[in-house]
Amino acid sequence: MGKFCANCGGRLIKKAVTLDQHWGEQIVVFEDVPAKVCKDCQAIWRSCEVLESMDRILTQNVKPEKKLAVPVWSLTNRLKNAA
Ligand SMILES: [Zn+2]
Repeated sequence: MGKFCANCGGRLIKKAVTLDQHWGEQIVVFEDVPAKVCKDCQAIWRSCEVLESMDRILTQNVKPEKKLAVPVWSLTNRLKNAA
């Protein structure tokens, strides 16, 4: 990974980020993920090592540091103009 964003050419800043993603029926969260974040378009770039590590954690069912309870709302009956 270079110093510039492959999307927009913006400058990349090293940062530890928190990422959430869907995993089957679950939402999973990764904290303290080393990444480079584009100053301009906010794209997040992770190294192969980081991606592989996240993949391993998910596929090998590694015990998480903690669990979060996540509230879910359906908007079906909450919107006046629901289609
Ligand atoms: Zn960018």
